[in-house]
Amino acid sequence: MRVAVLKEDSCQPKKCNDECYVYCPPVRNGQECIILDDHSGKPMISESLCIGCGICINKCPHDALIIENLPSELEQDMIHRYSMNGFRLFRLPTPSKESVVGILGPNGMGKSTAINALSGRIVPNLGDWMDKECDWDGIIETLPRGELRDFFISVREGNIKVALKPQNIDRLPKRVQGTVRELLSKVDERNMFDEMTKDLGISHLLDRTVQQLSGGELQRMAICATILRDVDVYFFDEPSSYLDIHERMRIVKIIQKLAETKRVLVIEHDLAVLDVLADLIHIVYGKKGAFGIFTPARSTRQAINSYLDGYLPEQNVRIRDKPIKFLNHRGGSAELGSQIISWGDLEKQLGDFKLKTGEGKVHRSEVVGVVGPNGTGKSTMIKILAGEHEYDGGWVSSDCSVSYKPQHIDVDMDCTVQVWLDAEVGPRWRSGEYNVNVIRALGIDELLPKRVKKLSGGERQAVSIAICLGRDADLYLLDEPSAHLDANARMEAAKAIRRTMEANEKSAFVIDHDVYFIDILADSLLVFEGEGGKFGKAEGPFPLKEGMNRFLEGVNITFRRDHDSKRPRINKSDSRKDREQRQVGDFYSYQH
Ligand code: ADP
Ligand code: SF4
Repeated sequence: MRVAVLKEDSCQPKKCNDECYVYCPPVRNGQECIILDDHSGKPMISESLCIGCGICINKCPHDALIIENLPSELEQDMIHRYSMNGFRLFRLPTPSKESVVGILGPNGMGKSTAINALSGRIVPNLGDWMDKECDWDGIIETLPRGELRDFFISVREGNIKVALKPQNIDRLPKRVQGTVRELLSKVDERNMFDEMTKDLGISHLLDRTVQQLSGGELQRMAICATILRDVDVYFFDEPSSYLDIHERMRIVKIIQKLAETKRVLVIEHDLAVLDVLADLIHIVYGKKGAFGIFTPARSTRQAINSYLDGYLPEQNVRIRDKPIKFLNHRGGSAELGSQIISWGDLEKQLGDFKLKTGEGKVHRSEVVGVVGPNGTGKSTMIKILAGEHEYDGGWVSSDCSVSYKPQHIDVDMDCTVQVWLDAEVGPRWRSGEYNVNVIRALGIDELLPKRVKKLSGGERQAVSIAICLGRDADLYLLDEPSAHLDANARMEAAKAIRRTMEANEKSAFVIDHDVYFIDILADSLLVFEGEGGKFGKAEGPFPLKEGMNRFLEGVNITFRRDHDSKRPRINKSDSRKDREQRQVGDFYSYQH
């Protein structure tokens, strides 16, 4: 089966010479393989006449075409196709009773399309994009007997109600007005207002307006609003962004409890969290913007291992060139350069909040992971080191220049990514090491013609990381760079940050809560303890193993290593391994 897709955003017929049409061999032989639309000038490609030569892909100056061959068996599994040369979705995840069903895969491969189909918001057209009639019976007939078919029978009867926790909670303050109490009261269909606000730790925020909430608080409010609804299926699109690891563990319990009586689907890119949270996982793979294929559900361990390995054995499909590997650390500070900054006994009072630190130093080429609960002064401390904040006591060796990527990236610029990069980084993004290690590694070369306003959350994050790394500075501070990036993009970003520091002999502080991300990226850990909004104490940087032990003891969880992939896995509380590891103080198992 041939799939020809036109990326509508990239196709700019006014800025090309119709290369796809002019060079297409069947067209030159008089066949209507490509027709240029009278009105828009854009090509319409006939998949049956296309011979798959790929000439148009190479000739198009805007990289607007995708031509792929897919196994013909897939044809019968097509669920939806938006238009003649539009995105298409194959197979669907199944919302199963009494389980948390996880979805693992990049954005832009049809997760939202799948959710819309499962909730009845779009009627799947099974690939017949011209047929605007709604034919539920036809759809149900094509599905094999089983849970998904029964589910669609209920959707057809109008018996399925769905609640969605959206991915981008950053936009909520612009869209909704009022206090947290007003907002949540309106959706309290299950009479669980008091219980849920307490469980999610937001009872003390009820009289604040949505605009006054931090990222983590907004996230918990959005999760609360979703759970309060009385529906049949709950979708959580990236519930862990902006939450610290304590809060992540808390929402794992809450979502698992919900799944005891309801159907729950979760899209989550923090693999340590997805691993403990989900009972089953569907992997979604394909080509961004062109097609997406859901695998049947598999056990959580198997699915995450093959995702990291980059190969899906049942499908015989490679989804990545190289496996993502753990336990690949360089040994402590041995290979690091000279000292770049040091400090001791810093103190800072900010309103009711007080921050204290121990003594620490950071070397050239060192990447410091910064971990700890929200509201314990992580950003404040780094800003002191950067000379942006005064401090009340203690010492810092000297100010150094800093490049900072904040947690919330609010850009209202009306220009393309290319213009944004030119303005922030200058011409050097176009070539050299930075172009290879950052721009291409993060897939930003494919976003250049896109308007900044139209970028998805993950795309905006990737461009912001690139801009931060592209500026000239001694210290790089990245505040939650993993938010909105899919699992694969996280690993790429971790590597891009490391490579940039090594190549330029600079240092980075990376605040993040994703343990896999930190594991791949960090040489050392600066560990924060304390109580959010009241006090914080920063100790370190420690070597990674020592820092992780200290940090995880505070969170009260232990990790074991998967014997195949060597990835860390959270132990069940009070399991044999959990008890054994606690006894010897080994919270982050380093055994091979
Ligand atoms: P995900 O949720 O995994 O990010 P989506 O389901 O939102 O993926 O989108 C997959 C692709 O489908 C997008 O890249 C886009 O090109 C296409 N798409 C989404 N919605 C529409 C639509 N209403 N019309 C045409 N194409 C769409
Ligand atoms: Fe024509 Fe298909 Fe070749 Fe493109 S890939 S030039 S559409 S035959």
